[in-house]
Amino acid sequence: MNRIVNPKRKYTHQQMTYDLDSLQKKYPKILTLDIIGESVDGRSIYAIKLGEGKQEILINAAHHAREWLTTNLVMDMIETYCSVVSNDQDVGKYDVKEILNKVTIWFIPMVNPDGVTLVQEGAELFSNRDDLYKWNENQLDFTAWKANIRGVDLNRQYPADWEYIHHDPGHPASMNFKGHKPISEPEVKAVYNFVCKHNFKISLAYHSSGEEIFWKYKSKGKVEQSAKKLADIVSTKTGYQLIYPSENPSGGGFTDWFISNFKRPSFTIEIAPSVGPRPVPLCYYEKIWHENKEVPLELASQLFKCD
Ligand SMILES: [Zn+2]
Repeated sequence: MNRIVNPKRKYTHQQMTYDLDSLQKKYPKILTLDIIGESVDGRSIYAIKLGEGKQEILINAAHHAREWLTTNLVMDMIETYCSVVSNDQDVGKYDVKEILNKVTIWFIPMVNPDGVTLVQEGAELFSNRDDLYKWNENQLDFTAWKANIRGVDLNRQYPADWEYIHHDPGHPASMNFKGHKPISEPEVKAVYNFVCKHNFKISLAYHSSGEEIFWKYKSKGKVEQSAKKLADIVSTKTGYQLIYPSENPSGGGFTDWFISNFKRPSFTIEIAPSVGPRPVPLCYYEKIWHENKEVPLELASQLFKCD
């Protein structure tokens, strides 16, 4: 079968834009494409809706620039789910058509398109290249970059104990700078507004690397229990380890915010074995795909099992 998305390549924002356009034309009854905002440098931030279910879950990827393989994974999920629905097939034991009739799955495949472009193409095409070199400590190699194009770490921007974030450098940098205030960056603003307009029962943020699942943040009682139950299921499915945070975890992350604000389960999944400060090499893709391809389907099924 002719596939549109090739996840085993350096996957750019431009390629994703072409592919989303093609997917929308191929699967108009299953897929809806939305633009929820623009990056600092004017790149579209897309949200893709699959299904018409009453309940909603959200999967996002690539908050961190160098972690762009998470976009490949999510784009592969989008095409695979569309393809099996239109061909009356299943993914493993999951009847995707039935699941999407009950639960709408939203995807934001690339939260940080400028950062991803910087990692993949270097600084020369950006008008603030002089600042970028300075913030990158005069290194020409940007492959370890995590922040957006203003040197703000988008996963330290959400209003969850933002004031108390640990190890903030206090100025723009390749990673860890939380910004001058929460939600100052347009990429985070787009995600934040989008999530606030919806009623997501569960959310999942893909990161790399380390084969770990962050699930708890500061949750307690019933909120913690329901998250733990799902986290155990996802851990069994992926083989990834559950992380128990310290007494005082650093906040500001998407998942930290979702858990503390909505009192509902949210997970940060770190795909791939630990590879250090760089993009995950493509040779891991097949393994990552097999570990994760059913995760959104399982989370969605858990929702209607609870009805
Ligand atoms: Zn990350």
